[in-house]
Amino acid sequence: MGALENGLYSFKKKSNCVFCEKPQLNKKGKNYILFRDTLGFIMMNIFPYNNAHLMIAPYRHAANLEDLTSEELAQMMFLVKKSLVSLKKAIKADGYNIGINLGTVAGAGIADHLHIHIVPRWLGDTNFMPILAETKVLPQHLDNTFEILQPFFQPE
Ligand SMILES: [Zn+2]
Repeated sequence: MGALENGLYSFKKKSNCVFCEKPQLNKKGKNYILFRDTLGFIMMNIFPYNNAHLMIAPYRHAANLEDLTSEELAQMMFLVKKSLVSLKKAIKADGYNIGINLGTVAGAGIADHLHIHIVPRWLGDTNFMPILAETKVLPQHLDNTFEILQPFFQPE
């Protein structure tokens, strides 16, 4: 565990890891972080599979579920719930895929920093899906989506 700084735990960061670097950027709107908690955060996927594709990650650079503490695991699941509650108010999706890709072979774009995907789904959005693959392009601009979602991700 790192020291508590500015309400957030600090850990050894890895460079060139988006989940380590984005939380360090405080410029509003530029890091696509929708919500920060003490051990983890919610951000938009900048290579989204679908509109409002979110990712939840711990601040700590850890690859495996078994590397996380019980507190981190609990908060990750709390952040999944918060994401769903917020998304249900912000957008009208027909369903959601929620999942974790463990390892590059399983489709993880960033395999050494665990993250949970939340992908809103709409009827007819695709017929055959690389469900959690991080490769698909989409029409709506990230910045617009961020503006739409942000008000729904305020602290409770
Ligand atoms: Zn990392």
